[in-house]
Amino acid sequence: MARALRYIRHMTSHMDETKQAKRPLSAQADRGGGGVPVVSEVFQKAVEHVPVATSITDVHANILYVNPAFEKLTGYSHDEVVGKNESILSDKATPLKIYKELWKTIKSGEIWHGRLVNRRKNQSKYLADLTVLPVMDDDGYVMHYMGMHRDVTDLNQLERKVKNQDALISSVIEAAPVVIVLVDASGRVAFSNSAYKELKRELTGVEPSEHFVGALKESLGQNIRDLCKKGFDFTAVEVSLKTQSGDTRWFACSATKVEEQDMSAAGYFAEDGSCGVLLVASDITHQRRRYEQARTNAVRAVMAEQQMVQGMREVISGAIFQMQGPLNIMSAASSMLERQGNSANALQEPINQVINAGQTALERLRAAMPNTADEPVGPVNINEIIREVLDVSIDGLLREGIVVEWTPASVLPNVPGRMNALRSLVKYLVDNAILAVRDRGDERSLLINTRVTENGDVSLEMRDSGPGFDDSILIKAYEPLFTAWKKTRSRPGMGLSLARQIIMDQGGSIEIKNALTGGGKIEVVFAAASLGHGPSALQQGVPSS
Ligand code: FAD
Repeated sequence: MARALRYIRHMTSHMDETKQAKRPLSAQADRGGGGVPVVSEVFQKAVEHVPVATSITDVHANILYVNPAFEKLTGYSHDEVVGKNESILSDKATPLKIYKELWKTIKSGEIWHGRLVNRRKNQSKYLADLTVLPVMDDDGYVMHYMGMHRDVTDLNQLERKVKNQDALISSVIEAAPVVIVLVDASGRVAFSNSAYKELKRELTGVEPSEHFVGALKESLGQNIRDLCKKGFDFTAVEVSLKTQSGDTRWFACSATKVEEQDMSAAGYFAEDGSCGVLLVASDITHQRRRYEQARTNAVRAVMAEQQMVQGMREVISGAIFQMQGPLNIMSAASSMLERQGNSANALQEPINQVINAGQTALERLRAAMPNTADEPVGPVNINEIIREVLDVSIDGLLREGIVVEWTPASVLPNVPGRMNALRSLVKYLVDNAILAVRDRGDERSLLINTRVTENGDVSLEMRDSGPGFDDSILIKAYEPLFTAWKKTRSRPGMGLSLARQIIMDQGGSIEIKNALTGGGKIEVVFAAASLGHGPSALQQGVPSS
């Protein structure tokens, strides 16, 4: 060891001399106060104690010196390896091309750094992270080589483990049949899988994440930055997106807060990482369509039953209405006869019998009137009702070739009402419009819009391209069994008497007019604000679709 140290001392002082010749002695040496000898002394001590396996060789890699860390790592003592070649450590697992590359580099005076498999004295293997640096003489010829290596077996294991896990996670995420996207706190997409990219293509380049983050904000009422501070987790929020082809796709969207540590040097001591949100969205369009179909069928069934009941009520109401007129006349006649005294007694009796028979018949008719189902009052969104009725009426509208233009208010307060009754009301209005359009023939359109009135009530307006209402129709339009339309196809009346009945029950109003542009116009106002259910009191309704 003493001999080796002497050699090192000689070599390091030589190295220092070389440095000195090329540049002024380092400030370090000056601070040491003793110049070059002090530097080489410090250098020797450092090499002896440095925890990196260090060796110094001649130009053929024959070992001249190894430090204690080398002895500890390889299991060879200094005396055992001095004079031997560094190849004593070589293992066949290292490919030949690595050694060739090493030698090519160091022989040209460059530093080589790489990894190779080494074998200890006890034949156990380890992965060495080796740096070999050539030590030149004054003329630039390589005199010696210095090798420094560390055992990086554990580090390599860890790296491979992370890589393997990364590859596994990436392939699972890529292959997942759901949209996965990681969005940072500023809303930028940090990572996305192929299902997400496919969806983005369908949306012609628009980031789907913006819709998902928007839904997150709507659902939780806060943006990602605020949520990051508090932490969050939410599942199955439904989000709809319109694709380039005009189709609506539905997603059940879930999100989890993801904390990412800052990997920059400056962020090493930072305690908090940056927050992002991992959004997972699974396509539920298919289920949603099936659900909507089932719902439409259910609504259709309920409405068919209700319309049958309402139709019977209209027929019976019509019959009562028709009978009431003659009975009133007879009652008046009977009173007149009564006032004329005994001379008219012969007529009085049969008239009273007819009146009594008529009253009995009216009573029977009233008793036969089917009751409508008792339905509780709840918050109803008129836009939703219209959409359902249009879904149910689609076949009839298509059959008549009527183009429906629906402009729903984007935000509509709910109104208090009976859902099924209001569905019937809107259905009567749509059916009435279909009959009106059928009578005109040329233009075939139905314009529907909803809006919030100045009072905060909800207005529904329907304009049809039918013949409109002349004065005689306007007077009779609400009479049961009255119809102004020629091609009614077995409909008892215009349905407006029942429509008016329903809207009156709800505390609203209905008005029949002629549109300035021609055709009929019916406006129904649903009381919301007047009952204390205006926009401020009730939650906004479903958005337009
Ligand atoms: P070999 O057949 O001897 O060599 C493989 C190939 O390397 C040859 O085909 C040739 O292209 C090239 N080569 C070998 N020797 C020379 C040379 N003298 N001149 C030019 N090209 C040459 N090896 C390790 O395995 N582990 C170590 O920790 C290690 N540390 C080293 C430290 C220093 C400072 C130096 C200079 C070399 C070190 N080496 C180390 C390399 C070692 O000297 C051998 O080259 C290597 O081990 C391959 O030896 P081998 O007997 O398996 O194959």
